[in-house]
Amino acid sequence: MLAQRLTVVREGIAAACVSAGRDSSEVTLIVVTKFHPVSVMRELFELGVRDFGENRHQEAEAKAAELGDLDLNLHFIGQLQSNKAAAVRRYADVIHSVDRAALVTALGKASDDVLECFLQLNLTDDPSRGGVAPGDLVALAELAAATPSLRVLGVMAVAPLATDPRPAFVRVREASEVLQGVIPAATFISAGMSYDYVEAIAEGATHLRIGTAITGERPPAS
Ligand SMILES: *Cc1c(COP(=O)(O)O)cnc(C)c1O
Repeated sequence: MLAQRLTVVREGIAAACVSAGRDSSEVTLIVVTKFHPVSVMRELFELGVRDFGENRHQEAEAKAAELGDLDLNLHFIGQLQSNKAAAVRRYADVIHSVDRAALVTALGKASDDVLECFLQLNLTDDPSRGGVAPGDLVALAELAAATPSLRVLGVMAVAPLATDPRPAFVRVREASEVLQGVIPAATFISAGMSYDYVEAIAEGATHLRIGTAITGERPPAS
């Protein structure tokens, strides 16, 4: 089942790239394995998956330790408290959810190594959703650019559910252009999930975060 669903998604990505006139080598599939056991991650690794997404610190930390024998990339995609920043830095290869000055400062202090990150945009009017308001993106980008231990790869966003995702991804692409005005190398876009990755690819997404379409329904949070 897992292998079959993974194949369906990989083929869906390839087809969406063809429709968008893009090369599928520009697109990284991150399989979101939150709430699933490490056995599922090992099985996915066997199937060639190298990029995994997790959204809760304790769970991600434990999984990173258990999977220390595998050469994988762990992407932290969940809301992150500043007081956990140093701990997450230790095991995460990329953090997708950098969304406020206090977090940039905390991550910047935590290490001399360079950490790759995305600046998360909030596309809703609800501040509890995580993400920086689009109007505050430039100020956040300037702060991150002035933080030597952070390398900003691009913007990240979650499209609002239950509406046409395409206009949301247009806004993400526009925000990506704004970000590149501050950090020219920050050309990547982390966007697109199980039910909207085709639209995300059409608007330039380079990092897809796909869970349920590959893993099946998540078990309840433990
Ligand atoms: C859970 C999650 C995903 C994956 O969602 P699916 O609908 O299962 O594909 C992507 N991004 C973030 C930030 C998530 O928390």
